[in-house]
Amino acid sequence: MMDDNCIFCKIANGQIPSKTIYEDERFRVILDLGPAARGHALILPKDHYANLFELPDDVAAEAMKLAKKLGAQMKQNLNADGFNLVQNNGECAGQTVFHFHLHLIPRYADDGQKIGWKPGKPSDEELEETKNAIIG
Ligand code: 5GP
Ligand code: ZN
Repeated sequence: MMDDNCIFCKIANGQIPSKTIYEDERFRVILDLGPAARGHALILPKDHYANLFELPDDVAAEAMKLAKKLGAQMKQNLNADGFNLVQNNGECAGQTVFHFHLHLIPRYADDGQKIGWKPGKPSDEELEETKNAIIG
């Protein structure tokens, strides 16, 4: 199902042109207009799901298989040295377009990018408490 107000629905379904590197009946994979590095692409399902938690399991599985296949192709054909998969959910996590997408980011030894976080320093008690909170 498409959402008429969603730009990625329009791109995924071909109503807005894009640099498409792969397409099948469920997905379109496009080059990101603001790439972190050469080849940065986005896997878009053609149906609208706002985020990972709305994504049906079979679509999630297919997206990951596609990431593996295209990632290998990009590494080979672009001579990448490494590869990041990034997937943001929610504004505070950096999501800016609320249609599920998986970032495929080829990395190069000299690309000058940083994809990461500032590591915390939890005590063993804090880690124990967090572990228990997650398990519930
Ligand atoms: P997010 O921050 O939601 O995880 O990622 C959104 C990504 O979509 C960004 O990397 C941004 O550059 C890209 N983007 C936003 N609008 C467009 C667009 O119209 N076309 C393409 N190809 N990429 C877009
Ligand atoms: Zn959408």
